[in-house]
Amino acid sequence: MANTKQIEELRQALLTRQELITKNIEGSRNNISSMQGIECNDDYDYAEISSDSFKEGIIANQQLKELKEIEDALKRIKEGTYGICEMCDEAIAIGRLRAKPFAKFCTPCREIYEVERQ
Ligand SMILES: [Zn+2]
Repeated sequence: MANTKQIEELRQALLTRQELITKNIEGSRNNISSMQGIECNDDYDYAEISSDSFKEGIIANQQLKELKEIEDALKRIKEGTYGICEMCDEAIAIGRLRAKPFAKFCTPCREIYEVERQ
């Protein structure tokens, strides 16, 4: 079970990550809108730009998803349920939380979850 000091460290890590992702997403949005402003006479160039903005869109979506997970984790810290597996109610190992501070499941449950999703 993570102690108060460890949770505080993880909270800081989550906040840092949250800030970084927020900035990244804002950056991607600016890139996409500046690309949309480019005039394209050549079809090839247009395809290049579209695929770039498509990739940017995917990255932004993944980051939005992670941002949501971070917000959930911060909420759990506030509620005092942070670090507890949502499936089996066991404490999530500190090593796993350090690797992935917004983890909702302990390692065994995560494995079951992955298998069930396939
Ligand atoms: Zn579990």
